[in-house]
Amino acid sequence: MADLLPPPVDRPAYAGRWLTDAADMAPFLMDWRRRWTGRALAVAQPDDTAGVAAVMRWCHARGVAVVPQGGNTGLSGGSVPDESGRAVVLSLTRMARVREIDTDNDTLTVEAGCTLRAAQEAAAAAGRLLPLSLAAEGSCTIGGNLATNAGGVQVLRYGNARELCLGLEVVLPDGQVWDGLRGLRKDNTGYDLRHLFIGSEGTLGIITTAVLKLYPRPADRANALVAVADPEAATALLRLARQAAGDALTAFELISHTSLSLVLRHMPACRTPLADASPWYVLIELSAPASAAPPQQTLEHLLEQALGQGLAADAAVAATGAQFAALWALRENISEAQAAEGKTIKHDIALPISAIADFVRETDAAIAHAFPAARLVVFGHLGDGNLHYNLSPAEGVDAADTAAQAAFLADEPALNRLVHDAVARRGGSISAEHGLGVLRRDEAARYKSPVERSLMRAIKQAIDPRGLLNPGKLLAKVDAAAESAP
Ligand code: FAD
Ligand code: ZN
Repeated sequence: MADLLPPPVDRPAYAGRWLTDAADMAPFLMDWRRRWTGRALAVAQPDDTAGVAAVMRWCHARGVAVVPQGGNTGLSGGSVPDESGRAVVLSLTRMARVREIDTDNDTLTVEAGCTLRAAQEAAAAAGRLLPLSLAAEGSCTIGGNLATNAGGVQVLRYGNARELCLGLEVVLPDGQVWDGLRGLRKDNTGYDLRHLFIGSEGTLGIITTAVLKLYPRPADRANALVAVADPEAATALLRLARQAAGDALTAFELISHTSLSLVLRHMPACRTPLADASPWYVLIELSAPASAAPPQQTLEHLLEQALGQGLAADAAVAATGAQFAALWALRENISEAQAAEGKTIKHDIALPISAIADFVRETDAAIAHAFPAARLVVFGHLGDGNLHYNLSPAEGVDAADTAAQAAFLADEPALNRLVHDAVARRGGSISAEHGLGVLRRDEAARYKSPVERSLMRAIKQAIDPRGLLNPGKLLAKVDAAAESAP
């Protein structure tokens, strides 16, 4: 008879929302690429750190898995649960307050669910720059940025999310709170725990608040779109730009002809300022304080040299703020434009900058030979040695033709192997900034040494011995010893 009674109303007690209705939970269960859809026991949205701790204690006591989620813009499937329906999604978006700005210490203390754009705006209102910048900044959150160690378009000048973080507050799998909110640039008091949680993709703890570094706002900025023959010329131009501009060099982005063409086709507001098409382009940005040489002047001088040395075929320097934004729109809309052409196969690779041109030459040729129907859409942060070495179905394949799209995706494992083996041969990484999630989890195990894998396993076992935090992400099944522990 007891089975016929309604189940007891059991949920953690905290301030915030606890969603169990299917329609309410749906937006939290599918990723941005619409590639992974899961199910959940509930979606918890606490209002504060005490609430996060209450949810973690409740889950820990019941052996319930927890999937942390920020803006759900991650590209590797790390932010959504699996199909078991046994996990709680812990969404941080109601924890979005700016706790403090210290303009003497040049730090911003901000809760994990604050969007990157809101954090940038808070810094700007205090006359400072938060330099992390990426196309998803309107939706992605500081917690997600740190959990994935996000990169973006200014890493060349200011470093990635890890380098911008001085302190963290983290809720551990059993609900304990670690207060590491120190705004210190020097602190040699043992293991630097914050670095364990940065880039851990929600597998070790819940980041609830962070202390981030702020910088002076540059007085002036300038950018240009430059036509170059190939990645070799682009690399030579990067060398020249470093020499000519030094610290003023803020971004150096490579864009293939195909990538730019997709933007011009799908984004009606976007126009190229260059008269002739080129196989490759570079988008350069310089920025500088008032005391330094005006960036536009430095940029024009640099481009004169590049044209004179035959490194560039043509260049357009933005003359107004609107033109500056229009040039960036050409770069920032590539992902959206590529998505409009059907399914995508993405490779987020890092290489020594000196190996990029050779990698592109060899891998482009190998793909053209083995997969003639696949179309390369290559772009990325050349200044950081990071390429988005992406593929789309052949020109003219209908995005709505599900059979053709499935046939394209059927080649994904073989394409991944070809690309990632070429990366590994050159000492590169198969995930530069998007993390492993579920997308690269198993492949990463193939390319990491046994020593590296056993150290990662030991860290997981020490902090999350019951394997409750984001199970099935980052660590390959063979490495996730904790998950099968009793
Ligand atoms: P989510 O997608 O919600 O989560 C990502 C991972 O972090 C998951 O594993 C999740 O479990 C974990 N997580 C989230 N919040 C927390 C928390 N508080 N505590 C612990 N774990 C947590 N990325 C780049 O690096 N550079 C780019 O240039 C870039 N451009 C992009 C452009 C577009 C159009 C899109 C859609 C994405 C882009 N990304 C880029 C990827 C994505 O925006 C970043 O990975 C971002 O940092 C994810 O933040 P989020 O809040 O959306 O995290
Ligand atoms: Zn990127």
